[in-house]
Amino acid sequence: MIELSEPRQVARWCAERRAAGRRVGFVPTMGYLHEGHLALIRRARELADVVVVSIFVNPLQFGPREDLERYPRDPQGDARKCRAEGVDLLFVPDGRQMYPTGFDSFVDVRTLGGTLCGARRPGHFQGVCTVVTKLFNVIGPCAAVFGEKDFQQLAIIRRMVLDLNQPVEVIGHPTVREADGLALSSRNAYLSPSERSAAAVLNRALSRLVDRSGGPIALATEVVAELRQVIEAQPLVRLEYVEVVDKGTLQPLDRVMPGQTLVAVAATVGTTRLIDNIQI
Ligand code: AMP
Repeated sequence: MIELSEPRQVARWCAERRAAGRRVGFVPTMGYLHEGHLALIRRARELADVVVVSIFVNPLQFGPREDLERYPRDPQGDARKCRAEGVDLLFVPDGRQMYPTGFDSFVDVRTLGGTLCGARRPGHFQGVCTVVTKLFNVIGPCAAVFGEKDFQQLAIIRRMVLDLNQPVEVIGHPTVREADGLALSSRNAYLSPSERSAAAVLNRALSRLVDRSGGPIALATEVVAELRQVIEAQPLVRLEYVEVVDKGTLQPLDRVMPGQTLVAVAATVGTTRLIDNIQI
């Protein structure tokens, strides 16, 4: 595995591979890699001849009162994991190279970026779209893999690629979970043991819906009320939102439409903000 931090060197390396007829697969991450990230890397391996992983804690996607400074980092462990997965190029840019003085260009996906987490984290998805566009421009991947754990992010990236004619195939990958259902996340490292066990309520609540997806069609208000009740019974968990939305438009639905519905939640456990979702 080769490790590079200079965008120009990365661009040259990738261009040479593409010129030799190789398909370049790409997995963007913020590091502190876990099995969810590794599943994306394995998917990229299946889709492409060479695999590029980026690790960049992107300041543009963090709000002023969010966890940029304390976001968990483990550069050596991450490099070891990437090497073990057969990653070809690890791209670790630094902030000054990504956002030099005078940086003034931003990518915004307006409607999809304005709902769910976008309504609560102003500027977050603009930061994501801007950095992903920059990474796409540097790497020129044929395919890029994103996790369904961040379902809204995946939907927004698909829209952006379509709208801006970015020549990359966007691949979604199912959420990888712990044995008790908690979605793997780098932020789980913040949780104390009692918060960690309380956090499992998010997926436990969502999973109740799938067990019943063959049953009568439920009103969104009933689903939301039920999930609220289950989640708020956990004293360590503070619910931010539960929403029943169309999985294409991310706009609210009146009732659960099988095959078309996403139920998304965000909650704070202790001081840690977690998200999860389920498709019905
Ligand atoms: P992050 O490092 O959190 O920015 O995530 C990088 C990529 O990994 C994103 O596409 C995430 O959606 C994806 N990802 C994070 N956690 C999981 C998970 N538990 N299962 C599947 N993909 C994940």
